[in-house]
Amino acid sequence: MPSLKIDHARYVVTVDPQRRIVQDGSILVEDGRIRQVGKAAELAAARADRVIDARHLVVTPGFVNGHMHISYGHVVRGIFPDDVGSPLGTVFKLQLAMTEEEEHASTLLGLLELLKNGTVCFVDPGSTKFPDACLQAYEDAGIRAILGDGVTDLEAPIPLPRYATQEAINRTASFLKAWHGRLNGRLRAWAMPFSIETCTADLLGALKRVADDHDTCLTLHHNSGAKARQEALSRLGSPSPTQYLESIGVLGRNVVLAHVLGLDEAEMDAMARAGATAAMCPVTAAKGGRGVGEHGRLPELLARGVKVALGCDSPNNCNHLDIVRAANMAAIQYKDARQDMKQIPAETALELATLTGAQALGVGHEIGSLEAGKKADLVLFDTQRPEWQALFNPINNLVYNADGRSVHTVIVDGRVVIDAYRQTFVDETRLYGKVQEIGEKLLARTGVTPGRPRWPII
Ligand SMILES: [Zn+2]
Repeated sequence: MPSLKIDHARYVVTVDPQRRIVQDGSILVEDGRIRQVGKAAELAAARADRVIDARHLVVTPGFVNGHMHISYGHVVRGIFPDDVGSPLGTVFKLQLAMTEEEEHASTLLGLLELLKNGTVCFVDPGSTKFPDACLQAYEDAGIRAILGDGVTDLEAPIPLPRYATQEAINRTASFLKAWHGRLNGRLRAWAMPFSIETCTADLLGALKRVADDHDTCLTLHHNSGAKARQEALSRLGSPSPTQYLESIGVLGRNVVLAHVLGLDEAEMDAMARAGATAAMCPVTAAKGGRGVGEHGRLPELLARGVKVALGCDSPNNCNHLDIVRAANMAAIQYKDARQDMKQIPAETALELATLTGAQALGVGHEIGSLEAGKKADLVLFDTQRPEWQALFNPINNLVYNADGRSVHTVIVDGRVVIDAYRQTFVDETRLYGKVQEIGEKLLARTGVTPGRPRWPII
């Protein structure tokens, strides 16, 4: 693999243990890893096969996206009007009706959007039906993907893949065996039961043991809102959904709870005690009117040392796949909800998108910060744009002014995958046409009518 030098960066935001921000910084990448990070003068003698002149660029660690249904939403993105209530029933109906080829195209678009916005690692929470068909897309895009076989074993009001308990366990075990560690470790496989509402305690417990045996993680939807929490409580008769998980042995260092709205003190204590982590989707919570003021607990989780990643959920919840916008939402929504500007500072929001998020997903030892020895996953932001002016505080500018549109170059595993805004793994124009066509056919086939704007289209 050719070596690479990022030279004379305007700022390098390392997120290292001292949280150093290096002005006029350089980074040397060899064999897919960061060899050296420091002042450009310190690296003046370092030679590389390729040198990127970064004097107008701000470098950050690559972003992680802890909950991102990548495989289906793009082909029907934007079809739900604001007053539809929960679109989940329709969402899963459409998802189940997709073919291999359709899922491949939708996934490609998702990967493209993630990478163009600086995400280098994402968790697809078990929604990809045809991973074999999508493997080439993961390989070509060069991204890190955390995948799983989404399973349930209980009757549910939403159409989800449902199996007999033992079959769900077997499926998960063979998925982990087949997928974990592929593509030079860029692919990881986790156990992915959907939720406590849709899975028996037997299944959840068995999947946790399967994850432990394979030295990997388990994620599930957990407290996605006040309504889901109420339903879980009435069925389980436990003091709380999280204590229920604890009581059945499904809370631990390798468990990532997605959404986690409305946790009480005892639940947060249980998570901290067990070392469980969270993936929170701030834009989904805000757009879905789920009451972050009343139910959001991000500051309390962080205060307890619980590692939290941000997620963009799905293209019909959060709609965009831009973790910079999600970090912005995380930073501003708690200030408003608590009427306190000190909540979730910009630096904390950036940690969620990088190191803290990577730690939440069990990959913090490899990515999430720019330090010698770590894998070379980097994002280079273009400051020659209006939203980056004037530049005195790169963290404030990134979290409050910018978004993923100023992502200039993205490097994963030492390989340049977005190069000065360009990529080579897919023909974008063709893909956009194909995705639109697939969406139209899918709606016609399933009889789902897309919500139109309130204004007449003439
Ligand atoms: Zn989800």
